[in-house]
Amino acid sequence: MRIGLPKEIKVKENRVALTPGGVGTLVRRGHQVTVERGAGLGSGIADHEYEQAGATLGSAADAWAAEMVVKVKEPVASEYGYLRPDLLLFTYLHLAADRPLTDALMQSGTAAVAYETVQLPDGSLPLLMPMSEVAGRLSVQAGAYHLQKPVGGRGVLLGGVPGVQAGHVVIVGGGVVGTNAAKMAMGLGAKVTVLDVSHRRLTYLDDVFFGKLTTMMSSEANIRALLPETDLLIGAVLIPGAKAPHLVTRDMLPLMQEGSVIVDVAVDQGGCVETIHPTTHDDPTYLVDGVIHYGVANMPGAVPRTSTFALTNQTLPYALLLADHGLNALHRNPALLRGLNTLRGQLTYAGVADALELPS
Ligand code: NAD
Repeated sequence: MRIGLPKEIKVKENRVALTPGGVGTLVRRGHQVTVERGAGLGSGIADHEYEQAGATLGSAADAWAAEMVVKVKEPVASEYGYLRPDLLLFTYLHLAADRPLTDALMQSGTAAVAYETVQLPDGSLPLLMPMSEVAGRLSVQAGAYHLQKPVGGRGVLLGGVPGVQAGHVVIVGGGVVGTNAAKMAMGLGAKVTVLDVSHRRLTYLDDVFFGKLTTMMSSEANIRALLPETDLLIGAVLIPGAKAPHLVTRDMLPLMQEGSVIVDVAVDQGGCVETIHPTTHDDPTYLVDGVIHYGVANMPGAVPRTSTFALTNQTLPYALLLADHGLNALHRNPALLRGLNTLRGQLTYAGVADALELPS
């Protein structure tokens, strides 16, 4: 199959959808890969690395002319012109929040497989997981930085030093983001408490961390009790398909110490802290009641190189299946079939159709 790898043109997107290693794997399987010149630069990958892996370099139009286009982010308006009926598009789409792109995909007849809805039989989302791992680990780095006095924080070193108490990191939600945040916080030597509503999840965390962190059932009373002694609060809740519940409400903020930090990773689903709103890497924080709020909605964008490698580790097996079998791959792999969002002008994912009030 002819596969195209365009450069991402969405503002501040520095990831790329295939590494040279991934391109090499596709080429060795007999596929032809066209990489847009400069596609990997934001992730520190030079054009000649793709050439050495067997790719041909070309323009955006050359990459989009392929039978399958593999991307990171959804096409932006200036890319809609590349959509066509015989194109297979494999990328993050998030159509439920994007009516114009949904219309463009349907009108063009493009077959679009969305990373975020590829779903394994146990309900997990393997192509979202790597970005949650990255965001979870970054949340502690971001929080530790903003706790420093010169940037307005409480002046607390999360790990403490011998003879001085460590900082307290409270993580609300013990899924992928929460577990990765816990690992990082414990690695720094912080005191860590994780709250979740899933007893099974709390049991797992208690087992794997050997009782070295505290687990608590997530309830308003427990959150209120923890806030006065929380240096860094990390929001990591997800209720699939729904907005995040506001677990830290406006009236609870005065319970926190001035200069303490909230990193609400769940901001992309509305946030689990009532006072959070989306921010950017250029201007990541703001103050409410003296508490620093960090609400960057695309945290992995800060570490595009790591994110590119983490994402492509997970997407490559699916990209290979699609390259080898075309749309027949969807019959062979039920997880990939769940990823199909549009086909021949039809919307094929019920969740998106419901959100946009369209037939599926
Ligand atoms: P996950 O499904 O692995 O974990 C979510 C956890 O929240 C589950 O363990 C669930 O039991 C728990 N939960 C549900 N209701 C709760 C409640 N009331 N109190 C406490 N815990 C509760 O999800 P994840 O992959 O860890 O993602 C978490 C959030 O992070 C999502 O909103 C996701 O979209 C977001 N995210 C954001 C970024 C970013 O850049 N900002 C990047 C990746 C993921």
